[in-house]
Amino acid sequence: MMTIDKFNFAGQKAIVRVDFNVPLDENGKITDDTRIRGALPTLKKVLADGGALIIMSHMGKPKGKVNAKFSLSQIVDAVAAALGAPVQFAPDCAKAQEAAAALKPGEVLLLENLRFYPEEEGKPVGIDKEDPAYNDAKKAMKASQKEFAKTLASYADCYVMDAFGTAHRKHASTAVIADYFDADHKMLGYLMEKEVKAVDNVLKDIKRPFTAIMGGSKVSTKIGIIENLMDKVDNLILCGGMTYTFAKAQGGQIGKSICEDDKLQLALDIIEKAKAKGVNLVLGTDCVAADDFSNDANTQIVPANAIPEGWEGLDAGPETQKSFAAAIEDAKTILWNGPAGVFEFDNFTAGSRAIAEAIAKATANGAFSLIGGGDSVACINKFGMADQVSYISTGGGALLEAIEGKVLPGVAAICGE
Ligand code: AMP
Repeated sequence: MMTIDKFNFAGQKAIVRVDFNVPLDENGKITDDTRIRGALPTLKKVLADGGALIIMSHMGKPKGKVNAKFSLSQIVDAVAAALGAPVQFAPDCAKAQEAAAALKPGEVLLLENLRFYPEEEGKPVGIDKEDPAYNDAKKAMKASQKEFAKTLASYADCYVMDAFGTAHRKHASTAVIADYFDADHKMLGYLMEKEVKAVDNVLKDIKRPFTAIMGGSKVSTKIGIIENLMDKVDNLILCGGMTYTFAKAQGGQIGKSICEDDKLQLALDIIEKAKAKGVNLVLGTDCVAADDFSNDANTQIVPANAIPEGWEGLDAGPETQKSFAAAIEDAKTILWNGPAGVFEFDNFTAGSRAIAEAIAKATANGAFSLIGGGDSVACINKFGMADQVSYISTGGGALLEAIEGKVLPGVAAICGE
């Protein structure tokens, strides 16, 4: 398999799929440039070797239609500043043949938002799934998706996939395009390599003990991951809103805490599975209960299975925080997805903070810690502890699918199934 380090881009035109789906304010100014910075090592390597760069990305959800609000023209200057090189702009990503052909080594061309074309996502637009003509429309769209990918591929000599955030989608630019390059002319970028390695560290090259912490609001959205991890972890901490589904399933009183009543049996099955597999399942024993879903609510510490009527558990209690920390501090591999409480309210951050601090301690003692999936990243950033963990994933859905054990189309397109 070709790798970006082995490849010499001198005299080559490289088309690079990045994730420049950056948040913009109402004036079109970038409010967080993390994603642009994330792609720089790959982009700079192409230029440093003496190659020409064609950069492509999506932004937002324009649903296959041109929409100025989502135009990548708004980020040209920021990309140029980050790269330290002028950036040309192709206002139509499917009609950039001339601009691409004219590129000289060291020059950079940014293509307009790929999702202005429905072919990028490959989903038929304007037709309902129930419509009898839907299947034909889908087939036709798949065929035009191939044509669209072929057009993008025609701009360049080689293809680099570096958009981890969309690697779980089989889109024209993230996967289909790879069919138009031979194995020596397609590769993952540095960001993708790092993300894939981080996932391998928690799914394949596991150093034990391995503690996974799954939190967030619902068990239903995390069940695929919990099931996949059950075969791999030594300790499994389940926290956050899903705690109360477990407490109720075991006969506890949970007041008005968040609960998925149709998942009570699932919760009991998870408890049984953990027992059968010898996994140490750590569930909260106490919680911070509040009389209102607000930062200024009155609070009391109560057992997680004896929450008074009219009260709801919004954070892990002190005893629980200790048991979580104990399961984390000695670990050598740690995965954290999802907060232990409503961390957006400052008064309900203690459980998540205890987890973050235990992870930082274990990491300082040589553990590999991977944090990913939206809210836990927001947590670690809120606590200013991003530099105390091993790796923070840039992918939300992509990371979750990877740790569910699914092969990401964007990875498979380069590395095989
Ligand atoms: P998820 O998107 O499933 O990862 O869930 C993240 C959300 O879960 C965050 O917005 C948290 O505020 C929320 N959450 C965590 N603990 C609780 C809780 N005990 N009650 C209600 N929401 C919670």
